[in-house]
Amino acid sequence: MSEKVKYFPGKEIRPEALDDGELLVTHYNADLKYSWASGVAVGRFLSELKNGRLIARKCNKCERILIPPRIFCENCFRNTDEWVYVKDTGTINTYSVAHVGTDAHRLSEPLFVAVVNIDGASELMGFLHLLGEIEEKEIKIGMKVQAVWKPENDRVGSILDIKYFKPIKN
Ligand SMILES: [Zn+2]
Repeated sequence: MSEKVKYFPGKEIRPEALDDGELLVTHYNADLKYSWASGVAVGRFLSELKNGRLIARKCNKCERILIPPRIFCENCFRNTDEWVYVKDTGTINTYSVAHVGTDAHRLSEPLFVAVVNIDGASELMGFLHLLGEIEEKEIKIGMKVQAVWKPENDRVGSILDIKYFKPIKN
């Protein structure tokens, strides 16, 4: 029999606990220097995001359209063949409701994180993103969604150039 969780054991770290000396803190400056090359396929994908478009790669042997794009088809063991623009709409494949932020603090409003299968790409091709303009109880697997883009001047070539996916109301 499942029982609804009423509280979480442990103690949330509040900023005041740090200021009051309730928790011990040490400071150091990490001197980390690194760079990351996005590669041909993801590099093009990111620059197309800046243009407000989603681009995929097609393998002409298995005829799959891959997004995020890959320069190599792992099924056929060969290079993919061409660039294909796909839609900025899709279907919720799966989702999760996050009550804890990436920095481990409790969120006042939960985030909805979903894998969105992108229209125009092959079955089960898509990526993880946020859902917005939706209530938790409205989210359904299989629901149609559409990207909400940042204004053109605010885009930087990041997956976050899409603010979130919102439901397509019929
Ligand atoms: Zn292939």
